[in-house]
This record gives sequence, structure tokens and C-alpha cells, in this order.
Amino acid sequence: MINSIKTDYLVVGSGAVGMAFVDTLLDELPDVNIVMVDRFAKPGGHWNSAYPFVTLHQPSAFYGVNSLELSHGLRDETGLNKGLGDLATGTEILAYFEAVMRHKFLTSGRVKFFPLSNYEGNGVFENRLSGLKTKADAAKIVDCTHLNTTVPSTHTPNFTVENDVRFMPLNDLPLITDVPKGFTVVGGGKTGIDAILWLLENHVPPQNIRWVKSRDAWLINRKNTQPFPEFFEDTIGNQANMFEAIAGAKSKSDMFDRLESCGYFLRIDPTVRPTMFHGATISELELDELRRVKDIVRKGRVASITSDNITFVNGRTEPTLDHVIVDCSASAIKDNVIKPVFQGNLITPQTVRSYQPVFSASMIAWVEAHVEGEAAKNGMTGVVPLPDDLDAFIRMTAANMMNQALWGQNKALRNWMREQRLDGFSKMVSEIGPDEKSKLEILNRLKSAAMPAMGKLQSFLN
Ligand SMILES: Cc1cc2nc3c(=O)[nH]c(=O)nc-3n(C[C@H](O)[C@H](O)[C@H](O)COP(=O)(O)OP(=O)(O)OC[C@H]3O[C@@H](n4cnc5c(N)ncnc54)[C@H](O)[C@@H]3O)c2cc1C
Repeated sequence: MINSIKTDYLVVGSGAVGMAFVDTLLDELPDVNIVMVDRFAKPGGHWNSAYPFVTLHQPSAFYGVNSLELSHGLRDETGLNKGLGDLATGTEILAYFEAVMRHKFLTSGRVKFFPLSNYEGNGVFENRLSGLKTKADAAKIVDCTHLNTTVPSTHTPNFTVENDVRFMPLNDLPLITDVPKGFTVVGGGKTGIDAILWLLENHVPPQNIRWVKSRDAWLINRKNTQPFPEFFEDTIGNQANMFEAIAGAKSKSDMFDRLESCGYFLRIDPTVRPTMFHGATISELELDELRRVKDIVRKGRVASITSDNITFVNGRTEPTLDHVIVDCSASAIKDNVIKPVFQGNLITPQTVRSYQPVFSASMIAWVEAHVEGEAAKNGMTGVVPLPDDLDAFIRMTAANMMNQALWGQNKALRNWMREQRLDGFSKMVSEIGPDEKSKLEILNRLKSAAMPAMGKLQSFLN
């Protein structure tokens, strides 16, 4: 049997991107109706499968949907995020998205939500429990599944593991009831960092932790991502430092050196040069903790794990040591094929500001509501590629700067962004008073270095 339903927008995916898109569309287009579909029982996407000790990496103050505050308005007073804006936990994020769905979306009478439903294409989705199929006759379809976030609890590792190995995603660490001989964390990204920090926080001696990394990463200092006036020098000053470092660079390699010297990038081991960048964000206190782990294995990508050996793709090996092997190898972000955001009746939200998927989704909804014509809409939503290797960082930064420059010329968009909770920084800049000399000086530095930095990035890309 197949039900049918008519709607203006069919939004596939109620993760953070789908939620942020719908929230802004509801506010900007007061007459439209929306159907949302997701495989999960509750909104929030991958946060439903996250490890119990997960938190945001960026301040809650600019995550979630535009219309509802997620942060408690606090600076953490204890722990490794001390002094910085509060970071929502996974459970807080899920409760938040559930509240947005119940109290805003469903209460509006304009959104119908179909959880536990698998979207099959052509407007058709099937309820996973009843098998009931529904066909949505939608004027537009919004694909909020494109970022394809993967997390350790649901991904399949790209290496083999024999049955007698004690292998688990970091989600299962809190379920351990005996004291293992040690822990080997596989994965050098942000989930690997989270696993190590959690083990140390729970008093596992650093000498009982081994960290297998195929690549080292440049990291972002969380102090420089705080959208609060008292952090102006850190956040906007950091942007000015970044532009100046790029503008002054004599080569790509020199650019990364300068980005580190000016404080834009951090690295865990000062003797090992990073070869990747995924936008992972950490505090300086977390960095100090991570440096306590000395047993770092850099032998490339893992190919297989048996009770005796970890074997790497290049044939090198490492004894398994009867350790618990902690899988942190899921790549949260995948380098998806970039496509136009607006294509006929299909909208595919992608990042239009670097590592800001929720701001991007909200901004794309604003463009959908206020800009006429596909070419003009796509002109304002140039996709910023996801970062990966160091060239990708250059492509990402260039595309990001192009968008910022373009958006700055659109008065209506500028005004909207200034009031956008998810933007975080436009408001900070717009609120500078005429007598705030040091802030104005930072702004001037930022403006003067922007064009030379843009030119330098283009020259590196050619
Ligand atoms: C540990 C961790 C921490 C992070 N911290 C931050 C942070 O601090 N700041 C930040 O900006 N980003 C952060 N991110 C990045 C994060 O991926 C994004 O913020 C955001 O949550 C991605 O949302 P999404 O909606 O694109 O993806 P998802 O959460 O994966 O949502 C996609 C949804 O689509 C549904 N879906 C897919 N296919 C179908 C189908 N065929 N039928 C029905 N439903 C379907 C899925 O069930 C899912 O609910 C973090 C990521 C991780 C893993």
C-alpha cells in the first residue's frame, strides 16, 4: 500500500543540517509546508549514534538552529575547556533538537515528521517498522544526507580484525569492567583525540596508552573560535593573523610555518610535520594532556589486526600486546562530490563556510527564500570543499574567502547575518564602538591583508 501526501518541501535527513535548514525556511517563508524524513527515531542525525562522552568541538553558542540558543551562556570553570564557551554534550544536543522539533516545527502545524523512515528516491519513503510506503508529491526536495558523516559505532573499518582481538568503537569504552593491559587507539583525528583524553581523564596511565596514527593533523586552537566580545582579539585577531601569514608566504610550506607561528594552527608533536587538516579544534589544556602519551605509532594505514600483530598496508607490523584496540578510524567528514546547491527541484545543502555545516544550511535556506533564479542562488552559495590534505586547505580557504567577499556586497544578507546566532562573528564585528581603538586596528589589519591573501592562495592553486 502507498500513501500520498502533498508538500512544498520534502527534506530528507533530520540531522543538524536538515534541522538548521528547516528552522530558517520556516522563519523566512511563512506560508510553506514541509515534510521531514529520517531513518532514525529522533532528530539529531549522527549524534544519535555518538559515544557517551562526546561533546561539540566548537562553542555551543553557534551550533544548532538559528532560532534557539543551545549554549548555557557560560564559560566552563573546570576541566580541559576551562575559560572557554560551554560545549554541549551529545545528550544535550539530542534533547535540544527534539525540543526544536516538538516545540517549533510540529507546533507550527507546517512540518510533518516521519521518523524511522527510509527514503528511497522519487519522493517515496518507507516506514522501517510497518513497511508502509508514502509518496510525497513535493515541489522541492532537499537532500540533507550529502555530508555523509560517519562515526565509529556505525562504520565498517577499512581493515580486517580477527575475532579473538578485543576490538571496539570508542562508544564501548565505558562498558569495560576489567582493567585491560593497555589501550591502542587507532585513528589520529578528533575521535582519536577524544578517546585519549577520556582515558587520561579516567586515570589510565599515559604509558598504558598507544596511539596509531596514519597522519598527523594541524589543529585549530579553540580559544580562537569564541564568538564573545572578550575574545575579540583571539577570534578576529586570529583571522587577521591568518590573512597576514598567507599574504606574506613565500611558498606553500612557508605558509603552514607562518600559520603555526602566528597561532592559527597547533600541532601535538612539534617534531612531526602534519600532512592533513580536518578542522579538528582543541584547547591548549587538551593539547598538554595529549602530549603526555608518548607511544605514538606512525607506520601508515592499518591493514589487519590479529591477536599477535597489527599489520600496516606497507607490510610493517606492531605487536598487539593484548591491548583493547579502540576504533577511531571513521572519517567524520567525507570528501563528497561537490554539486550545485540548487539544481531544478533539488536542493543539496553543502558547506558554504568552512567547517560550518549548520550555518551553511541556514544560509542556503535564506537564499532559497530571498534570491530569485537558479544561477543567482548558486552564485551566492559556492560550495567550500571539505578540508583533507594540505592542498585541500588552500582550496577551502580560497573558496571561503570568495564567499565572504561576495556576501559582504549584499545588504539584505549582511543584515540577516548580523542577527544570525549561527554566524557568531558578524555581530561581534558590527558591535565595535568608534572609540574601541584596538579592535578597529585589528579590523583594519584584517581588511588590508584580505586581498593579498586571496591573491596568494590563487597563485598557490595555479
Ligand atoms: C564527534 C563529532 C563532533 C562534531 N562536532 C562538531 C562541531 O562542534 N561543530 C560542527 O560544526 N560540526 C561538528 N561535527 C560535524 C557534524 O558532522 C555536523 O555538525 C553535523 O552534525 C552534520 O549533520 P548532517 O545533518 O549533515 O549529518 P547527519 O547527522 O549524518 O544527518 C544525516 C541524516 O540523514 C539521515 N539519512 C541519510 N540517508 C537517509 C535515507 N535514505 N533515508 C532517510 N534518512 C536518511 C540519517 O539518518 C541522518 O539522521 C562533529 C562531528 C562529529 C562526528
